[in-house]
Amino acid sequence: MEPVPSILEGFRNPDLAKTLIKAIENHNVDRDVNLMEVCGTHTVSIARAGIKSIIPSNIHLISGPGCPVCVTANVDIDKVIALTKMPDIVITTFGDMTRVPGSTSSLLKEQARGADIRIVYSPLDALNVAVESPDKQVIFVGVGFETTTPLIASTVLRAKSMGLNNFSVFVAHKNMPGALETIVNDPQVKVDGLILPGHVSVIIGTKPYEFLAQKYHIPGVVTGFEPVDILRGVEMLMCQISDGEARIENAYARAVESKGNVAAKEAIANVFETCDAEWRGIGEIAGSGYRIRDEYKEFDAWSRFGLEVEPTVEPKGCRCGDVLRGVISPKECPLFRKVCTPENPVGPCMVSSEGSCAAYYRYY
Ligand code: SF4
Repeated sequence: MEPVPSILEGFRNPDLAKTLIKAIENHNVDRDVNLMEVCGTHTVSIARAGIKSIIPSNIHLISGPGCPVCVTANVDIDKVIALTKMPDIVITTFGDMTRVPGSTSSLLKEQARGADIRIVYSPLDALNVAVESPDKQVIFVGVGFETTTPLIASTVLRAKSMGLNNFSVFVAHKNMPGALETIVNDPQVKVDGLILPGHVSVIIGTKPYEFLAQKYHIPGVVTGFEPVDILRGVEMLMCQISDGEARIENAYARAVESKGNVAAKEAIANVFETCDAEWRGIGEIAGSGYRIRDEYKEFDAWSRFGLEVEPTVEPKGCRCGDVLRGVISPKECPLFRKVCTPENPVGPCMVSSEGSCAAYYRYY
C-alpha cells in the first residue's frame, strides 16, 4: 500500500518555496528590511530550514520575545525556588524550566539538594500528583503565552470541582500583544514588519494585533511553521512594505481564525485577569501578565503561601534582554559559545530549545 502523504508535505515543497523566493525578490525593496519573528518556534524553523540564506540579503530576520521560558523573569524563578524550601512541597513543571537560572540557583540545583521537583508534560499530570500525594502541597509552575494559558485555566477549574485543597499554580503566564507594543516603541529596535506567532494566534485570533498596523503602521502576518508557511509570510510582508501599506494578514488560515478560539478565550477570562508583568531583560510591561481571579484565589500558589524574596541579581554579562528585544543577535553576546553553551547556560535564551541563543548555537 502506498504511504499516505502528510498534510504538511505541500508546505515543504521545494518548487513552491522557489516560487515564493522569486516573488520575494520581485518586490525589489531597495533598502534593509528588518522582519521580527516573534515566536521561538519560528526562530527554530527558520534556522532549521536555512531560510536566512535563501532570501535576499537585505531582508534581516530577527528574533523576538516569543520564547516563554526565556522571558520568565528572574524574580519568578527566585520565587519558585523560595517555594521549594517549604516543608512538604512538591514542585511540578515542564523540563526546560528546571534549568533556567535564577539569581543564585535553579530548580535543577535545588533538586540536587533534595527538593521534590518533578517534570510533568501537562498541568493535568500535576493534578494527578496532588491526588496521589494528599499529605503534600503540589504546585504547578505555569509559564507560557495564550497557547498554554487555557489549559492551566481548565486545570484550575478541574481542581476546584474536585475540591482539591493541596494543589495550586505559580502563575508566570504572559500575553503577547502588550509585549509587541513595548518592542515597537523601543527606540533601540527597528522593526519593519512582524512574523506573528501561529500558536498564540490560534487562541487569540488576528484582531488583537490590529493596533500594530493602525497605530504604528507596522505590517504583520500570522504564519505557520513549515518553510513554505514562513516564506509566504515573508512574501506577504514584503508586498505590503513595497507598497507602503500596513495590515495584519493571516497566512495560517488552516489553523487560525480572525476571532480565535472563543471557548479557550472564555476559559482564560473565567479564571484569570490581566496584570502588569515582569519580563526577563525587558522589565515590567503593563497588562502583559495574568493572575488568578479572586474566585479561585486558593489556587494561586504565591498568594497562598505568602513568601518574600531578596532583590534579584541578573546573570553577569548575559545579554538576553537585548536578544529578546531584537537589539542584538545572540552571536553578539560576548559570552555566546565561549562561556554560555547549552550544557552550561548562563541565561534562559540558551536553555530552552526555542531560545534564540540555543537555536543560533545549533544552526548558525
Ligand atoms: Fe545570555 Fe548566553 Fe544568550 Fe549571552 S549567549 S544572551 S549569556 S543566554
